[in-house]
Amino acid sequence: MYDYILVGFGVAGFSFMQQLEENRQNFIVFDNQSQQSTRIAGGMFNPIILKRFTPAWQAAEMLPYALLQFQKAELAYQNKYIHYIDIYRKLTSVEEQNNWVVASDKPVMRDFMQPISFEKIDGIAAPFGFGILKGTGIVNVNRLLDDALYGLQQTGKLRKEKFDYSQLQITSDFVQYKDIKARKIVFAEGYGLHHNPFFNHLPLMGTKGEMLMIETDAEIPYIVKSNVFIAPNVAKKGQYYVGATYNWEDKTNTPTAEARKHLKEKLGQLLQKPFKIVLQKAGIRPTVIDRRPLVGVHPNYNNLGVLNGMGTRGVILAPTTAKQLFKHMTFGMPLPKEIDIKRFEKN
Ligand SMILES: Cc1cc2nc3c(=O)[nH]c(=O)nc-3n(C[C@H](O)[C@H](O)[C@H](O)COP(=O)(O)OP(=O)(O)OC[C@H]3O[C@@H](n4cnc5c(N)ncnc54)[C@H](O)[C@@H]3O)c2cc1C
Repeated sequence: MYDYILVGFGVAGFSFMQQLEENRQNFIVFDNQSQQSTRIAGGMFNPIILKRFTPAWQAAEMLPYALLQFQKAELAYQNKYIHYIDIYRKLTSVEEQNNWVVASDKPVMRDFMQPISFEKIDGIAAPFGFGILKGTGIVNVNRLLDDALYGLQQTGKLRKEKFDYSQLQITSDFVQYKDIKARKIVFAEGYGLHHNPFFNHLPLMGTKGEMLMIETDAEIPYIVKSNVFIAPNVAKKGQYYVGATYNWEDKTNTPTAEARKHLKEKLGQLLQKPFKIVLQKAGIRPTVIDRRPLVGVHPNYNNLGVLNGMGTRGVILAPTTAKQLFKHMTFGMPLPKEIDIKRFEKN
C-alpha cells in the first residue's frame, strides 16, 4: 500500500513530491509528458507585475519558501537550478519613470525595485532608462525535472504512462489503480486536468504561450523586459529565451507562424543586433478564471486531491501550495480560502 499516487510531474507535481519525500511518504508518480507548460517556461521568479508596477498576488510572501525548496533540490541532485539575475524593465516615457519612482517607495515593492538606471546594455537602446528589479532570477525547471525524473526512475517510483482515469476505484480508505493501492491520490496535470472526470468541473481556462530561443552576438547579462522578455539561456551561453505570447482561444501545444512573427517583430523593436531563431515551442499555462491556484480535495472523496492553476507564476506558487495541500490531506490542516477549490462549489 502506497501513501500517495501522484499524477503529473511538472513544477506542481515536483513540489508535491518534495513534500512526500520530506515527510517520508511512500509514493508512485505517473507522467506521460502530454503537457509542456513547465518544460517551456522561462522559469523566471519575479513577484512584481511589470505592466502596472504592482505586487503579484502572494508572490513576495511565497518566494522565500520557493527558493528554499529549489535550494534543497540543488543539494539533493547536486546540480544548480537557481540563477539570480536582475530584471531590467525598459521604461518608455517620463510618465513611466515617475510611476516607477512612486511604486518603488511602496511596501513590498521597495524590497525589489531599485532606482532608475541608464546603464548601457549591448544591442538595446533605452533613452528613458531601465527600472531595475533585484532578488529576481530564473529557476532552470527543465534541468530540475530531468534530474528528479531520473531519480524517480532509478528508485522505481516512476510510471512513464498516461494515467487512465476510468481505471481508478475509490473507497473511503484507499484508492486502487490497476495493481496499485494507495491511501490517497493527488492530481497535478496542468492543463491536462480537462480530461480528469473528478476535477474537470473546475474553471481552468488555459492560456497558450509560445517562446523562441535565439542566438545573437549581443551580450545581455540581465533579463530585459519591454514588449517581450529577453533572458539569458542559463543552460547555454550565447542563447536567449524570448517570450512569451498569450492566446486564450487555441488550446494546442503546437507552435504557430503567427506567434513566431509576433515575437520576432517585438524582439526586433527591442534588440538592435541580428539574431537567429533556433527553437520555438508552445505550451498551455494552467490559468484560472479568478487567477488563484486550484487546490483542495474532491467534494465527495477526501482522498482525491488537486494541485493546479499555477497560471503564469508556477515557480513561485507551486512549492507553497504543494505544502498547503499536503498538510491539508495528511494532517487535516485547513486550506486558505483563496486557493481552496471549495470556492467554486455551489451551495
Ligand atoms: C511560454 C510560457 C512561459 C512561462 N514562463 C514562466 C516563468 O517564467 N515563470 C513561471 O513561474 N511560470 C511560467 N510559466 C507558467 C508555468 O509554466 C506554469 O505555471 C507551470 O509550469 C504549471 O505547472 P504544472 O505542473 O501545473 O503543469 P505542467 O507543467 O503542464 O505539468 C503537468 C504534467 O502532468 C502530466 N499529465 C497530464 N495529464 C496526465 C495523465 N493523464 N497521465 C500522466 N501524466 C499526465 C503532463 O505530462 C505534465 O508533465 C510559463 C508558461 C508558458 C507556457
